[in-house]
Order: sequence, then structure tokens, then C-alpha cells
Amino acid sequence: MDTTDIAIIGQGPAGLSAAIYTARAGMKTMVLGCAPKVAGDYDIDNYFGFPESITGKELIELGCRHAKKFGAVLRCEKVLGIHQNSEGDFDIKTDKSRVSCKSVILATGVSRVRPGIENISEYEGKGISYCVSCDGFFYKNKKVIVLGEGVFAANQALELKNYTPHVSICYQGKKEKISEEYKALLQKEDISVLPGKVVRLKGKNYIEQAEFDNNEIISVDGIFVAMGEASSLDFAYTLGITTKGVFIEADDKQHTNIPGVFACGDCVGRFLQISVAVGEGAIAGHSAISFVKDKSR
Ligand SMILES: Cc1cc2nc3c(=O)[nH]c(=O)nc-3n(C[C@H](O)[C@H](O)[C@H](O)COP(=O)(O)OP(=O)(O)OC[C@H]3O[C@@H](n4cnc5c(N)ncnc54)[C@H](O)[C@@H]3O)c2cc1C
Repeated sequence: MDTTDIAIIGQGPAGLSAAIYTARAGMKTMVLGCAPKVAGDYDIDNYFGFPESITGKELIELGCRHAKKFGAVLRCEKVLGIHQNSEGDFDIKTDKSRVSCKSVILATGVSRVRPGIENISEYEGKGISYCVSCDGFFYKNKKVIVLGEGVFAANQALELKNYTPHVSICYQGKKEKISEEYKALLQKEDISVLPGKVVRLKGKNYIEQAEFDNNEIISVDGIFVAMGEASSLDFAYTLGITTKGVFIEADDKQHTNIPGVFACGDCVGRFLQISVAVGEGAIAGHSAISFVKDKSR
């Protein structure tokens, strides 16, 4: 397990800005995440200091260079889960490694992918779950399906095996993106793949059946949604962070309700712009530095 003072989840403007502050202050800083959506050939016309405009790709590359200059370690890894341990530190599992840190900055943008089930909201808390570590316990020996096409879904399915042997995974009509390593683990654990897409749920008070797009209906007790990559909301569920809608709640110092966890940028849901993400990243970095210093005293 690698250790760092501050782990920043997300390599967008918010995460890189936070990293510049924390690394420059001498904090051991690790940024986990790959290039954000804006890092393409899009002209950014409204960011301070670039009157001739700059592409998103160039801006993010400059941000990465800037953070690295002060010693931040940048790793293109997808975070699958974050848990707080008994010492109050945070253990992070990625698709490639494990990292332990004193403080976490969430800078994951808004990326929650919806599974496209027409009546899903009727069953939230009644068989639909977004968090295996929160709800897996309630499905002991029950039949569950994980919806998702990537390593995040694969990891959720593997975690569910701690509670029940009856786990399958459905890519929900998406192109499968599971690494060979995780595919081998799914096979070893006997987790089957259900073809097609769940389109409707049935059941009187709780989910009893899932209807697929080929009209097939199968019986099921629980469905865990894990589409795309883990989002700040998934981390919020496991860590007990307060949310408002699809966003993380953070105060004006970017503190969440969990000491040591800060959030900034689009995942906080204020004005979804680069300048705001960069500003909030700086504040989150500053707050995390104070937290780590206080903790070490
Ligand atoms: C095409 C496009 C054009 C835009 N143009 C402009 C513009 O001209 N001006 C402007 O001000 N704003 C623009 N925006 C909006 C701007 O890009 C966002 O407001 C800004 O990028 C938010 O920064 P962020 O760091 O909060 O989130 P993001 O930039 O979304 O970065 C989030 C990062 O978190 C990572 N991440 C998420 N989940 C995980 C996980 N589980 N593990 C690891 N990493 C994870 C993502 O991969 C990404 O790197 C544009 C956005 C897009 C998509």
C-alpha cells in the first residue's frame, strides 16, 4: 500500500489546482485520475489570462506540469472505492493499486451515468442500491445484479460475493470496459454476465423482477447500480458525506461533513466553469493542508 498526506481524486482543473497548493506547501500529494472531458481540442475562451484562447488539452497539460513541478505525483488510475479506517485515515482502492492518506479531496466532476430504467425511482431504497459497502449486508444469500460496464461494476460485484453467492453483472447495453485482470476475477468468482439491458422493474413493495429489452423477465432481489466510473456520489455513500441531489455538500472552505474530506469543482455543483473549479480547488487544498497539519500535531 502506498501512502501520501493528501490524495486528490480527479485530474481536472479543480484537482490540479488543489494539487499545486498542497504540493507547494510541502504536503505529499497524489492525484488519482485521468484526463478530464474538457482536455480535448475545445477552445477555452473565458479563462483568465488567455485572451487568444487556449484549448482544453493545452490547459490541462499545463496544469499537470505545474502540479508536477512542485512534486505532486499524478497517476492515471480509476478510484473504485474509499473507506475510512480505524485510525481515521482513508484507504483508497484503484483499478491498479491501493493508497492510504490522511486527507482526501474529491474533485471528480459530474459523471454519474444513469442506467436508463424507466421506473427506477420507484424502487430506490426498495431493492435499488448505489453502494455495496452500505447495503450489501441486506442481501445475504439473495439474488443480485450489478449494472455497469467497467471495472467499478466488476469491483462492486466482487464485493457482493462477500454477502451472497448469487451475483451477476449486466453491462446495461454499454460496451464492456473491464480489464483482463478483473475479467479473470469475475470468472474465478463465478459471476455470470447477463446480456441485454434492464428496462423495467416489477414488484409490489420491493423489486421482485427485472424486465430486459428482449422481453425476458428474471426474478431478482436487488440491483446495484455501478455505471461508468465511481463518482463523487458513490464515495459520498460509503463515507457518509451529505449530498444535495447529485452534488456533494461543501461549505465555503470546501469542507464536507466528514473531517478530512474536502470537495471542489463541478462535483459541488455551483457555477460549472473552469475558473470556479480552479478557485475551489485552491481553497480545498488550503483546507486540507490545515487539516493534515492539525492532525500531525
Ligand atoms: C467539452 C467541454 C467544453 C467546456 N468548455 C468550457 C469553457 O469554455 N469554459 C469553462 O469555464 N468551462 C468549460 N467547460 C466546463 C469545465 O470543463 C468544467 O466546469 C471543469 O472542467 C470542472 O472541473 P473539475 O475539475 O471540477 O471536473 P472535471 O474537469 O470534470 O474533472 C474531473 C476529473 O475527475 C476524474 N474522475 C471522476 N471519477 C473518477 C474516479 N472514480 N477515479 C479517478 N478519477 C475520476 C475524471 O476522469 C476527471 O479527470 C467545458 C466542459 C466540457 C465537457
